[in-house]
Amino acid sequence: MSLYHIYSAFSFAMGACIASFLNVVVWRVPRGESIVSPPSHCPKCGAPIRWWQNIPVVSWLALRGKCAKCRAGISPRYILVELLGGLLFLAAFWRYGMYAPAMWVWIALMIAGSFIDIDHQLLPDFVTVGGMIYGVALSLLHWAGELLAAPAALSSPLYIRPVESIGGMAFGFGLMWLVRFLGTKAFRREAMGMGDVFLMGAIGAIFGFRAVLASLILSAFAGSFAGLAMIALAKTRPGAFTAIPYGPYICLGCLAWMFRGEEMWRWYVALLTGK
Ligand SMILES: [Zn+2]
Repeated sequence: MSLYHIYSAFSFAMGACIASFLNVVVWRVPRGESIVSPPSHCPKCGAPIRWWQNIPVVSWLALRGKCAKCRAGISPRYILVELLGGLLFLAAFWRYGMYAPAMWVWIALMIAGSFIDIDHQLLPDFVTVGGMIYGVALSLLHWAGELLAAPAALSSPLYIRPVESIGGMAFGFGLMWLVRFLGTKAFRREAMGMGDVFLMGAIGAIFGFRAVLASLILSAFAGSFAGLAMIALAKTRPGAFTAIPYGPYICLGCLAWMFRGEEMWRWYVALLTGK
């Protein structure tokens, strides 16, 4: 077993643990509850969840998705979010190596934001405004590293200069604001929330303007595909059709950019220039 395997295993475990905490964040933060107290408990019988019942992925399987005391069902979404976190952290390590932790922060914010958006149709500020601040701070940190001639900062695949970060943020925010404005006019109702506008600002701040374009195009495709599927479902099962939050689709587009962005960009440029 090499160091690479150990880092890989650590990345997955880290992602699953963080996602386990994000499950708590997604439930409690929109309800205005504290994320530390009271400690985790069964929502049905109130039995406290012991540490060995709270191991990501493993415990849910060991308990077969039921409370140890009252056997009330625990939603499979908990284990799915934990697996998602583990796999995305692992993928980030494979793609970004030692820079993965910088991406883990944003992945965690996207997971929290997406599931809060699905549950409550809102994107919290700590994700969107937090993401914008994080993107600018990350570029400033890299820039400082460059000034100090730290070779590590120069070779980072994530490196964008502060001017690109702030420019990308303005571009993402501005473009999404325009889409929202035109959409609201066309549909004569609010086409999307301001949260989506801020979210795109965050993507621009972290990855630059190309990531904004990719996220917008990919999310529009994924969103309309899912929208059509839901409308088809609604015809057979009336009432099943509900408002689709747009945030998770933007996050999917951003993930595609994070893992295959450079390849997509080269393909697109080749398509345009015919080379
Ligand atoms: Zn219980």
